[in-house]
Amino acid sequence: MSDIFWKQLQEITGSGKCFRQERMGKHTTFRVGGPADYYVCPSRAQVANIISLCHAHHIPWMVIGNGSNLLVGDKGIPGMVIELGKESAQVTVEGNEVCAQAGALLSLAARKAADAALTGMEFASGIPGSVGGAVVMNAGAYGGEMRQIVKSATVLTTEGRERVLSPQELDFGYRHSSIPGMQAIVLEAVFALEKGNPAAIEEQMARLRSQRSEKQPLEYPSAGSTFKRPQGYFAGKLIEDAGLRGYQVGDAQVSEKHCGFVINRGEATASQIRQLICDVQDKVEEQFGVRLETEVRFVGEF
Ligand SMILES: Cc1cc2nc3c(=O)[nH]c(=O)nc-3n(C[C@H](O)[C@H](O)[C@H](O)COP(=O)(O)OP(=O)(O)OC[C@H]3O[C@@H](n4cnc5c(N)ncnc54)[C@H](O)[C@@H]3O)c2cc1C
Repeated sequence: MSDIFWKQLQEITGSGKCFRQERMGKHTTFRVGGPADYYVCPSRAQVANIISLCHAHHIPWMVIGNGSNLLVGDKGIPGMVIELGKESAQVTVEGNEVCAQAGALLSLAARKAADAALTGMEFASGIPGSVGGAVVMNAGAYGGEMRQIVKSATVLTTEGRERVLSPQELDFGYRHSSIPGMQAIVLEAVFALEKGNPAAIEEQMARLRSQRSEKQPLEYPSAGSTFKRPQGYFAGKLIEDAGLRGYQVGDAQVSEKHCGFVINRGEATASQIRQLICDVQDKVEEQFGVRLETEVRFVGEF
């Protein structure tokens, strides 16, 4: 590893914001994943310089938010992981719009919207991702999706330019946006909401929160729904009908509470989780002819 690269990285971020051989299990909700060669937590203004530095030194890089939709391999991630998290997490409200930097948690953005009596973001309050990760994935729950509220997203392009993308350019679909294809980085997003009744907004958020804790295995590490919803089916129902409720590989398990979730019972490795996911895909396909596609993204080396 280059000492010059490391020194220049520290010059950009200041000390205490970049790390070497950082264990990714600390930064993912599955609580698994080997080390990233480099791990950095920049402010919004520092991101472009870090990307240029990586390009100059031929260091591969990837961006993460809250790590709540990732399965990182046990051998870790070669190159640089750029966390857009708490160093880039400002949220402001102006009129009926919420402007949030990519690293802000969705729960914080939804909280600020509710405090300003703005409705439309209640569905997002329990999704444990960052604003950037949610825009990239078009995250959604309980009938709501990011595409219903995103007015624009400011991204950093591969050429190092900032661009403001419209909803049309973001090309939202089911758990899809144009951003991964462009290899762009979301820096911030503006959500267009409406004036609402504060008590009704609070009630709706509380109702969704309790539905989540009743139905989902929130007491265990996971990455939420492991699979996308296949057309005409529900992933959890197919898995249950295939007899896989509680199926285990080591400490990785199909949740007994919600078959659409793969959980880490404590000591699971990324390889065990990946093996379990493959087994579920194979067994469901054998029985029902449907190949489940993962919503969770696999990164790094297994
Ligand atoms: C208990 C639980 C419940 C969940 N419930 C839901 C739910 O109801 N609905 C739902 O949709 N999801 C749900 N999820 C999954 C997850 O929270 C969402 O997909 C969320 O949007 C991921 O955001 P993140 O910041 O954690 O992204 P990460 O997991 O960090 O990254 C996900 C992907 O986005 C990319 N990315 C992240 N930030 C940026 C950025 N700023 N610019 C460019 N690319 C970026 C990463 O490279 C990666 O490819 C749940 C997860 C858990 C653990």
